[in-house]
Amino acid sequence: MVVVMKVGASEDDIRRVEEMVENVGGETHIVRGESRSIVALIGDTERFMALPLVTLPGVETVTRIGKPYKLVAKEVHAAPSTVKIGTAEIGRGTFTLIAGPCAVESREQAMAAVDIAKEAGASILRGGAYKPRTSPYAFQGLGEEGLAILAECRERTGLPVVTEVVEARDVDTVAAVADALQIGTRNMSNFALLKEVGKAGKPVVLKRGMSSTVEEWLMAAEYIAREGHTEIVLCERGIRTFEPWTRNTLDLGGMILAQQESHLPVIADPSHATGRRELVEPMARAALAAGADGVMVDVHPNPSEALVDGPQALSPEALEGLAAELAAMAQAIGKPMS
Ligand code: PEP
Ligand code: MN
Repeated sequence: MVVVMKVGASEDDIRRVEEMVENVGGETHIVRGESRSIVALIGDTERFMALPLVTLPGVETVTRIGKPYKLVAKEVHAAPSTVKIGTAEIGRGTFTLIAGPCAVESREQAMAAVDIAKEAGASILRGGAYKPRTSPYAFQGLGEEGLAILAECRERTGLPVVTEVVEARDVDTVAAVADALQIGTRNMSNFALLKEVGKAGKPVVLKRGMSSTVEEWLMAAEYIAREGHTEIVLCERGIRTFEPWTRNTLDLGGMILAQQESHLPVIADPSHATGRRELVEPMARAALAAGADGVMVDVHPNPSEALVDGPQALSPEALEGLAAELAAMAQAIGKPMS
């Protein structure tokens, strides 16, 4: 069960809810949002139902949520939420373009890539400093040096940066630079990492595990939310299927289900979903048409020389073309590019 407090409810109001629940042997978990707080009740729901919680001062609604995910469920929010990432916002009313290199390979490469992203109209930059690679012999990312380059990229463009954190011990280091922390597909079920990332207090871009169901994806978001905040953007990045001609299969139906089930914004990553640059544009258009709140795409100043994921990287010209097309489409369907 979830108690949604009124905007402006006091700490005393929250305390009274806690006391009432604790008196019948329940536990509470408080999520302090920007405008209002939510108290999740853990324990015997039947007992909580009998309590006059809704009569307490500062309480707006008391909702029974018969789903395994609670804090990210659409029932706790009257309207879909908007997630602020630095100067940008991702939410249901707009369409956001996130672009940048798959990996930060060098200062020059990263600067060139983010200049292209900005020029094309991206409002958030992406780029990995820590790369989770299938082969231990493959380029693993520049680590802290890469983070410093990303900080420079933000300074240069004035745009916020989302970057992946791979290990729990690196969360603070990455959070010191990133405007949003990315959880990659391989780590969606790394619950220790999810908890640490939740505690860092930064917005999170949560990729769907490549073999995870929509419910498991929402439960991963719940792990983060339980640590204190729901500034979470869900990112559909394709799931594994029997089809070998694409790297993954972009699951647009699953993406929209996640959007309908939760109050969180949902974006698509057509680059990692397909692994083929010629499919990035059609799949980005499809994601927008389906209702995605944004897309994240890889761009490289020289795709044939990319150290990571070259076959899916857009050229500068291709990104520009895609961005123009998305902006026109987004305007036409009433979800203007933010
Ligand atoms: C990425 O976005 O750089 C990345 C590694 O994506 P994924 O985790 O979806 O494979
Ligand atoms: Mn990649």
